[in-house]
Amino acid sequence: MTFEELGLHRSLLKAVTEEGYSEPTPIQQKAIPIILKEKDLVGCAQTGTGKTAAFAIPIIHYLHSVIGSSKRTKQIRCLVVTPTRELAIQIGESFDTYSKYTNLRQITVYGGVSQINQVNQLKKGADILIATPGRLLDLHKQNFINLDHLHHLVLDEADLMLDMGFINDVRKIIKLTPENRQTLLFSATMPMAIRELADSFLKKPEYVSVTPVSSTAEIIKQQVYFVEKESKRSLLYHLIRNENLSNVLVFVRTKHGADNVVKSLKKNGVNAEAIHGDKSQTARQRVLESFKNKEVSVLVATDIAARGIDIESLPYVVNFDLPNIPETYVHRIGRTGRAGNNGISISFCGKDEEVYWKDILKLIKVDVKVIKEHPYPWKDKEVNPEAKPDFRNKNKNAAGKSRKSDNSKKNKKRWY
Ligand code: AMP
Repeated sequence: MTFEELGLHRSLLKAVTEEGYSEPTPIQQKAIPIILKEKDLVGCAQTGTGKTAAFAIPIIHYLHSVIGSSKRTKQIRCLVVTPTRELAIQIGESFDTYSKYTNLRQITVYGGVSQINQVNQLKKGADILIATPGRLLDLHKQNFINLDHLHHLVLDEADLMLDMGFINDVRKIIKLTPENRQTLLFSATMPMAIRELADSFLKKPEYVSVTPVSSTAEIIKQQVYFVEKESKRSLLYHLIRNENLSNVLVFVRTKHGADNVVKSLKKNGVNAEAIHGDKSQTARQRVLESFKNKEVSVLVATDIAARGIDIESLPYVVNFDLPNIPETYVHRIGRTGRAGNNGISISFCGKDEEVYWKDILKLIKVDVKVIKEHPYPWKDKEVNPEAKPDFRNKNKNAAGKSRKSDNSKKNKKRWY
């Protein structure tokens, strides 16, 4: 299938051709025709699948065809709600790219920065608003945002909004929009609360899903190092130097941990920077730009900060700390191996993280290469990577203990 066959406006075709897109990705092939028919849609797809264009392109097509050339005052016709500032900025950039040959105007608003510029922009009017939930409600309360003329509502990364505690804000936002809107909901997983949200706010939605989140891992070369916790920083430095790694995205669990990893790498002359929620928005953007321009060779991030990072052909992802939720591992390594490029994911597993590793293996069902030859192996404990995860008690993790996330996970039925 081609973009032409989707019947898109020529200004959009010109923009996607310039971006180098030769054909729609699977989520685009499935979602665009449904959205063009003005139906509600639930899409199960993660970042990296071309999901943003899957909703942005048909929305721009509609807005440009229906109101694009009109000279009247601009009113918000499309609202995209997304959980993080990085994602909001990323989506705003995508709308800018795809709509560059139209008269449509878009604004992105998010918290963590002064609202003055955003308010000035809103006063000028826009057709498309991309927003994080808190700032959106805040600006609405101050009467800077009017959603009465909304035609499209997009709820992006709905499962992350749930995890981040935004779901009530999302419900409030939906209630501010007209009944006759078209609603599109995207989520990488489909926990019960998201299904309920879809059931209560979407009208006879069509469901589409793309490659299961757990199988995206197959195009990525995965390696694991069983390493003493206190030697992880040394191992990271060892790999960066000996394997000549650059353009590396490193995931750590905490903001403090991220700063410490950066400090130790910098001490050894590696150009590293951290990106996490304690940094100002401007600082985060600056770091991200330097990483994209390859001025910074190692970016150390927490999961939430990393959600919006879209860097094509990122070659290496390092799981410095293993996540306690196995799906997070899949999200993380999905940062590499994008758009058909090969990627390598390197995981460090400390003794205290063995249970997490077993849970990850249980989810991905892929044999991950164990790198045994390295200077910092576990002491006083046998590495038994071949040990099969324990499938006997499905509601418990490999240690037999209920995980912190288990309550929600019981409801987290995979949906593909
Ligand atoms: P997303 O899933 O929206 O985060 O998109 C992931 C990446 O895929 C972005 O860098 C997009 O520019 C790129 N992309 C989106 N659609 C296509 C396409 N049809 N062909 C090639 N790349 C695409």
